[in-house]
Amino acid sequence: MPRIKDADIVVVRERARIDEVVRDVVALKSAGGGSLKGLCPFHDERSPSFHVTPAKGYWHCFGCQEGGDVIDFVRKIDHLSFAEAVEKLAARTGTQLRYEEGGSAQPDRLKGVRTRLVEAHKAAAAFYAEQLNSADAQLGRTFLKERQFDQDAALKFGVGFAPNGWDGLTKHLRSMKFTDEELITGGLAIAGKRGPYDRFRGRLLWPIRDLSGDVVGFGARKLREDDDGPKYLNTPETPLYKKSQVLYGVDLARKEISRRQQAVIVEGYTDVMAAHLSGIETAVATCGTAFGVDHIKVLRRLLMDQDEFRGQVIFTLDGDAAGRKAALRAFNEDQRFVSQTFVAIEKTGLDPCELRLQQGPEAVRELVARRTPLFEFVIRATLDDYDLNTAEGRVAGLRAVAPVLATIRDRSLRPEYTRLVAGWLGMEPGAVSDAVRQATAKSGASANSRQGSGTREEARRISAEVDDQAAAPQPRWQRPDPKLTSTAVERESLKCAVQIPQHVAPWYESVEPQAYTAEVHGAVHAAIVDAGSPGAIADGHQWIEAILAACPDDALRAYVREFAVDPLHARGEDDEQLRDYGTAVIARLLEMDATRRIVELKGRLQRTNPTEAEAEYNRQFGDLLALEQYRRQLRERALGET
Ligand SMILES: [Zn+2]
Repeated sequence: MPRIKDADIVVVRERARIDEVVRDVVALKSAGGGSLKGLCPFHDERSPSFHVTPAKGYWHCFGCQEGGDVIDFVRKIDHLSFAEAVEKLAARTGTQLRYEEGGSAQPDRLKGVRTRLVEAHKAAAAFYAEQLNSADAQLGRTFLKERQFDQDAALKFGVGFAPNGWDGLTKHLRSMKFTDEELITGGLAIAGKRGPYDRFRGRLLWPIRDLSGDVVGFGARKLREDDDGPKYLNTPETPLYKKSQVLYGVDLARKEISRRQQAVIVEGYTDVMAAHLSGIETAVATCGTAFGVDHIKVLRRLLMDQDEFRGQVIFTLDGDAAGRKAALRAFNEDQRFVSQTFVAIEKTGLDPCELRLQQGPEAVRELVARRTPLFEFVIRATLDDYDLNTAEGRVAGLRAVAPVLATIRDRSLRPEYTRLVAGWLGMEPGAVSDAVRQATAKSGASANSRQGSGTREEARRISAEVDDQAAAPQPRWQRPDPKLTSTAVERESLKCAVQIPQHVAPWYESVEPQAYTAEVHGAVHAAIVDAGSPGAIADGHQWIEAILAACPDDALRAYVREFAVDPLHARGEDDEQLRDYGTAVIARLLEMDATRRIVELKGRLQRTNPTEAEAEYNRQFGDLLALEQYRRQLRERALGET
């Protein structure tokens, strides 16, 4: 391996100011004596033990004992090799690197994978941005214009357009000496039978950047009617792009989040744009995934204030039940985070982008200003399910909210909410605190019985309890026998309906409940049907949330989540391969169902006397023939594709 010259490494280390590099990721406050401190990005902590000494160029965490210089920090935080970390810092500081052996001929070849991928993404973002002015991009420009995003806005957010052809970007990047392997590894191109082709075609593109401003992926919105892919496509998991951590807009919002001690979470790319343009410059969005623990960690580090995390995290929600449940689940991972969490609900159901469009930027600012603490929101939403005009309803309501109150561990908050709830219920505060004590004792007992299970387990328990407010016994769904063919086919068909609804919608709609022989599969199918037509909800995350919301209990939701993450057995991940696969699976499911009905019908035919009940016999016989023919068609379809 060619080595970077030692002298250049020294220059990079001198030029890259450690406090600036660290501040990309962690908010720092003075710790006295020329030292700075913040929340450690390498271990989970509530008060800062991560120290940086700019004068010496070192950092050290007293909590986890990690430490080193600026290069070590970049290596660890971005999971880079030593050379890659030096390259990243060299790019940042404008330092020209020289390599020890044969480096001058093809310097690009010597760079680390990450550096190359970052450069490819930078070039791709520039290419896409330029394409937005092409004739092809008319639909994209119209899309932006209809949402009142002018040229300045497009420029600020780097919005681009992926041309309609198959290899516009691939050709462009090849001409810049990027290899096919780099394009495929970076998720910019897909490996096809006749070489790589562009992942994003005929779509509007948003570059997704990490905290330091490097483009690490793209979010792409469908524009054309004949594009049968999902409404939004994102870069898949790559060495650069980790969807559980990326937040769209965080590069722009980072400074304001730290300064204003506030982060606003919105739903999508256009919402981030609309929020920023309306003066909410702390807005970010997750990219094609639910807000999760890793996102919390990123924000918490940016929000650190003095010795404590005091910032506010505001989620904008449309007021429906699915959003409510999702909020509860996400926030219960982190107590401190929960007590700082607020929800801003737009009763009209308009998202920030629509709100700005219809009612102007001040309406977006008002939405955020109207925030309610999450606990208050949850308690009120829980009480909404009870008729508080009757004594029975009030008692049942109290029983339902007591476990929620019991999860509030912040001592200053709990009495306040206890008083509030007493007021809403028209009860004595003492009665409410008694109920909370009982709920606490109950959860405390179950925690003790699982001693040493750690905080994560505890968080899960709390979230299960909050979810299951009525404390009804959990039904146990029996796991179907994995050795049965029917189990495999049923399971695979449900995975398709959950993961790639847009590809199986027409076929899945003809599936009858009895096609599922395992009870739990039938229950998941019912939830999918309740959630609406597969493919009608284009956003994959919203679709799964809708199914989860339609589930009667947590045990079934666990199955849905399992079906959502278990990889499909399709041959590839492009649209055509996924559609072929999904269709074949559903056809096989329908065929097995038809076979069962044929067997049943044959039995009934044998029991029917053709002379005594001629009409009945003939009808059944006709049904049988039709069913046989139907099954043959399905079999062809299923065999043809698998
Ligand atoms: Zn640490």
